[in-house]
Amino acid sequence: MVSPGQRQRHLDLGTGGGRGCEGASSGAVCLCLCRCPRPCGGGRVSPTELCTRCLEQVKRTGFLNAFVTVTEEQALRQASEAERRFLEGRSLTASPLTHRDRSPPPGKPRGPLDGIPFSVKDNFCTENIETTCASHMLKGYFPPYTATVVQKLLDQGAVLIGKTNLDEFAMGAGSTDGVFGPVRNPWSYSAQYRERPGVDPRSDWVITGGSSGGSAAAVASLGSFLALGSDSGGSTRNPGALCGLVALKPTYGLLSRHGLIPLVNSMDVPGILVRSADDAATALGVLRGLDVRDSTTIPPPAAPPHLPDDIDIARIRVGIPKEYHAPGLSAETLCQWGRVADLLERGGASVEQVSLPHTQHSIVCYHVLCTAEVASNMARFDGLQYGHRSEVNDSTEALYAATCHEGFNDVVRRRILAGNYFLLKRNYERYFMKAQKVRRLIAQDFARVFRDGVDVLLTPTTLGDAVRYCDFIQEDNRTRSAQEDVFTQPVNMAGLPAVTVPTALSSRGLPISLQLIGRASHDWQLLGVAKWLEQRLEFPAIQLPQDVSQAEREAGVPGRVRTSVL
Ligand code: GLN
Repeated sequence: MVSPGQRQRHLDLGTGGGRGCEGASSGAVCLCLCRCPRPCGGGRVSPTELCTRCLEQVKRTGFLNAFVTVTEEQALRQASEAERRFLEGRSLTASPLTHRDRSPPPGKPRGPLDGIPFSVKDNFCTENIETTCASHMLKGYFPPYTATVVQKLLDQGAVLIGKTNLDEFAMGAGSTDGVFGPVRNPWSYSAQYRERPGVDPRSDWVITGGSSGGSAAAVASLGSFLALGSDSGGSTRNPGALCGLVALKPTYGLLSRHGLIPLVNSMDVPGILVRSADDAATALGVLRGLDVRDSTTIPPPAAPPHLPDDIDIARIRVGIPKEYHAPGLSAETLCQWGRVADLLERGGASVEQVSLPHTQHSIVCYHVLCTAEVASNMARFDGLQYGHRSEVNDSTEALYAATCHEGFNDVVRRRILAGNYFLLKRNYERYFMKAQKVRRLIAQDFARVFRDGVDVLLTPTTLGDAVRYCDFIQEDNRTRSAQEDVFTQPVNMAGLPAVTVPTALSSRGLPISLQLIGRASHDWQLLGVAKWLEQRLEFPAIQLPQDVSQAEREAGVPGRVRTSVL
């Protein structure tokens, strides 16, 4: 049994270190994964068992609304295939044709993700599995192909549990604005939050952040060990931070965007949500790489197979950008920021203040560039090619207009409108071109700081801990995004890697996280510093009640789990 105090760590299956955890407790999914899955027997968990437990956990926590589709049948099939590989002593990385006699001995899996349950944000295309972007527009859309990053996981033998909930077309920062309704943060039901005086579980549940809130909730509630999100302005790091996860936004181009339904093409990256820096490094190692189907992919840098356990930060120079002391930053987050900076300094790193003067323009600049790209991207949803088609067909124009009206929510429609306005001939220079120039200045700020010798920047990820849903919806999507993206967005402008690491629980019992930003293609260095911090910060594991259905009843919502047709 895993005691609640033990941390949920490591999806590494044997290449790296990590705390042990023999098998899973009978009800919940094993918290610590460093030994899972292993060949059946020896009290350890098999891929099928692991998959079954994740599926059970997904059902038990259905009230979180993390999943849009659960691919149960397919997952069990994939798990049993992984199991067969384990039992027969071969894995996908050892092709039976070329390495038949060199295949590893029985019970020695080679692919680090073989048999590992994962989930995917529902804006990545998955062949023959409905891909909705949480929009009416794509209801009933079953793509004919699978996104490269998803395919890479499948090729490694990872087991797809399902597709996760999001803000419609990834536009938002709360996972509250999708057609399937809001995602609930699993920490809302943790002992750490609930057992504080005055918390009413019915009304006081908190948001996951967004827009990859379903993916974050899936990993935080132990329904998956790894989830893919997308990140154009913070959508992976924001929910990762609020759900107490390690969430990586890789260098732009390091991971293929092929099959990721675009929001802002020039900034979008697939994001990785996991429970430790080691897990992020493992996933990154599998997912990186050039893709002939995405011309913006870059040759991946040489990377270690896994992060060392004894990381030396003595020669690391850490920058603290003074402009990130933003209005609205909570006192507790500020305190964590100082604490972690001190910790790094005591560990031998040099910590210094730096300036990124153009960062303050990032949000307004993003607004122009995001909406402009949205206006262009959304033009494909005309009612003819994909998903929803209106009944109104008096003319082609009427069909287009009615389809957009019926298919998109207000947030998407407003962005299309704003984007088309900025792109009008008379406005193009004034808005779009100007924003591109400001973007360059923001990127140059980062470049200068790194050129001056700083290795990583340490900043908050969000202004504070997760907000109650009832408070969050007092503001509209645009206002919320402007507030929530202040620390995450500038990184997307510059295409740099950034990772968020949970540092402590707030006085409300909710995660507070900080962000590390690195040089382009220095993702592994960043994860190394993240691991160093993780080893010292001892962020506690989420304590979910044994009887999660009790939490469900108290939440007053029925679990909604749709099963894919597969
Ligand atoms: N909150 C931002 C937006 O709504 C970022 C979204 C994202 O990263 N996908 O555009």
